[in-house]
Amino acid sequence: MKDSDLTTRLLHADRRFGVEHGGLHKPIHTSVQYGFDRVENLIGVFQGTLKGAYNYARQGTPTTAALEALLTQMEGGRGSICFSTGMAAIAAVFFTLLRAGDHLIASKHVFGNTNSVFGTLGDFGVEVSKVDATSVAGVAAALRPNTRMVFVETIANPGTQVPDLAAIGEFCREHGLLYVVDNTITSPALFRPASVGAGLVVNSLTKTIAGHGAALGGAVTDTGRFDWSGYPNLFGAYRTGDAGGWGLAQIRKKGLRDLGAALAPEQAHRISLGAETLMLRTTQSSRTALTLARFLEAHPAVARVHYPGLASHPQHGVASALFSAGSWLLSFELKDPSTLSATMNRLRLAVLATGLGDTRTLVIPVAPTIFWEAGAEVRAEMGIADGLIRVSLGLEDEADVIADFAQALGGD
Ligand SMILES: *Cc1c(COP(=O)(O)O)cnc(C)c1O
Repeated sequence: MKDSDLTTRLLHADRRFGVEHGGLHKPIHTSVQYGFDRVENLIGVFQGTLKGAYNYARQGTPTTAALEALLTQMEGGRGSICFSTGMAAIAAVFFTLLRAGDHLIASKHVFGNTNSVFGTLGDFGVEVSKVDATSVAGVAAALRPNTRMVFVETIANPGTQVPDLAAIGEFCREHGLLYVVDNTITSPALFRPASVGAGLVVNSLTKTIAGHGAALGGAVTDTGRFDWSGYPNLFGAYRTGDAGGWGLAQIRKKGLRDLGAALAPEQAHRISLGAETLMLRTTQSSRTALTLARFLEAHPAVARVHYPGLASHPQHGVASALFSAGSWLLSFELKDPSTLSATMNRLRLAVLATGLGDTRTLVIPVAPTIFWEAGAEVRAEMGIADGLIRVSLGLEDEADVIADFAQALGGD
């Protein structure tokens, strides 16, 4: 798919699947149960022989299915499953595809709550190695006979590290490992993990894809690149028919149905509306992010700026080769951390709030908030300085954003 096609396709995707009464948007179907004319059809929906039918809303609705079809198109995959949050999607992948005794290799630069799940996995008997994935050598060094899966994020929050995505994909292919890529920060507007051999793609729909901060949601997309026929942890019940569908079948039953974090149809509708403007939003917010990153890098009060679009970023080469823009996420360190509160309190436009990928620019001091629970040791290990500020660029006019940071940092 060419990037230029994305908006065109998204705008007309619902209609192509046939919307009731010719509606341009897929309606919000709130029914939990679905009735059938004949008992054979009721039996068929349980046995999986009646295709395209709904059973009980925890396993899917016409509204969530429309969003799943949209996401599959966006990621260039073979199928997707929506969840109530990004964390539910991530947890479903780990808890349905890993078993006690398995080994997971994960980037050490991941979303804090994902890192917290790694701790829980350890208690369930899954070994987790956290590695520096900015070089494939870090992943390769952790390989064991019981390694099943490699997990990375495209652009890490808040440090903006970019893994050696293509080389890790090649490594996973050579060793038959399931490659799971969290595409939340880049989103399919800037990057499709299928292009580097990812088997599964995770997106927090809450962030870039919905884009408005008015709905929580998550999704797993199967890219069709992974050969499930050799994957050991699949139950016999899901090993029927085309092996390409086995992984998603197990994630839908064991993950969505059994763990129960279903996406509500109202939220699916809001996320679908947000997704229509994904390309326009990421283009604008990435442009503003690059301008702000350059401004901050030249500012005397700033020690360093983390943004993949800057030539000074350690993975600038990989990011420029793979991503169509540097994204809307950056972070920067103040030279004097004691000025952190005063500087942030002077911001008038940027909102002091957690969250990412909103229409509004959001800023948060990282060490005392999102990485507080992790503790000083983890912060030091992850390179999170006390004066680190994360910025999620919104859609405000670029000049207004720069002016706000200029007046807050002072010195002009
Ligand atoms: C926010 C986020 C998640 C979790 O998504 P929620 O929808 O908030 O549960 C996962 N991965 C990344 C990279 C995120 O930024």
